[in-house]
Amino acid sequence: MADTPRDYYGLLGVGRDATGEEIKRAYRRLARELHPDVNPEPEAQERFKQITAAYEVLSDPEKRRMVDLGGDPLSSGGGSAGNPFTGFGSFGDVFEAFFGGAGAGAAGGRGPRSRVRQGADALLRVELTLAETAFGVRKEIAVDTAIVCSTCTGTGCAPGTSPRTCGTCGGSGEIQSIQRSFLGQVMTSRPCHVCGGTGQQIPSPCPTCGGEGRVRSRRTIAVDVPAGIEDGMRIRLSGQGEVGPGGGPAGDLYIEIAEKPHDTFTRDGADLHCTVVVPMTAAALGTDLVLTTLDGEEKLDIRAGTQSGQVITLRGKGVPRLRSSARGDLLVHVEVRTPTRLDEAQEKLLRELATLRSEDVSVTSAKGGLFSKVRDAFGGH
Ligand SMILES: [Zn+2]
Ligand SMILES: [Zn+2]
Repeated sequence: MADTPRDYYGLLGVGRDATGEEIKRAYRRLARELHPDVNPEPEAQERFKQITAAYEVLSDPEKRRMVDLGGDPLSSGGGSAGNPFTGFGSFGDVFEAFFGGAGAGAAGGRGPRSRVRQGADALLRVELTLAETAFGVRKEIAVDTAIVCSTCTGTGCAPGTSPRTCGTCGGSGEIQSIQRSFLGQVMTSRPCHVCGGTGQQIPSPCPTCGGEGRVRSRRTIAVDVPAGIEDGMRIRLSGQGEVGPGGGPAGDLYIEIAEKPHDTFTRDGADLHCTVVVPMTAAALGTDLVLTTLDGEEKLDIRAGTQSGQVITLRGKGVPRLRSSARGDLLVHVEVRTPTRLDEAQEKLLRELATLRSEDVSVTSAKGGLFSKVRDAFGGH
């Protein structure tokens, strides 16, 4: 049988000048008819072995060259003596070569999955005032998550009972089925729908949790919010999230901070900003203001000649830095209000002031140079 070189080209029904793609296509077409899953005839099985061998030879350039030179890479001296078709016993190998492991699920013995699973993380938003985020606060927070069922302590079984092996999948957690593919019938498996892949069934579910091993519960927990926390930051409370199915370990609880807007201050990290409006005369003559800061009332000295846009910095009157004793600053932006709707007497006074200060002639730019004549803009003389 192995004496004369086999006609590998003939087995696949291709010419000697066939390309690799043509050889592959020819093999696929024949394999579809002859694969043992499709065609259980012993004859077909033998032919399948032969075409598979032919494909193996002709798809390998080195072996194909041997054939073209009149030799047979499978008959002698080619490693496996005797049966030229050894090494092709497993049709699974061929299948995998074609499908890249698509059929792996058929044999993949992963076993039943555990009924107990890790719980999910939970996220809760909490609104805090600026004073609370600045100096920290101990906050009572109502949390609504799954907790371990106290009746069954997570097993899901009614007291005095225990789980039983699933009768549908026999405890494997998987159900196997035959599916058709282009190579014929393929064994696939999927999780058992009766036991959810766990291989176990609970004959008498716990009356409290219905077999889930967990129940929803509202509880109040005290959260220590550190001083200096900022809007959008999260506090992680390990193991305070959702308890998993089957009483599995709880996920984490994240408390997300939402800082309510403040009437006076806007926050930029550890610094606070605010704006005070002072009349032109007060800015010119100087005045004292009382500003209510996070620390209480603070005297603010508006010096004579203060300009609009000037910033007064109160060092250390901002927000404490997170996990630090240092504090940011309070930056007070001064806005000078120019008087409007002047009555006759006020206008006269201002004109006199302007004359006294020779300011009715021109306006200088910030750099001191002449900007433009404004005499006419004041109504002229
Ligand atoms: Zn099952
Ligand atoms: Zn229970």
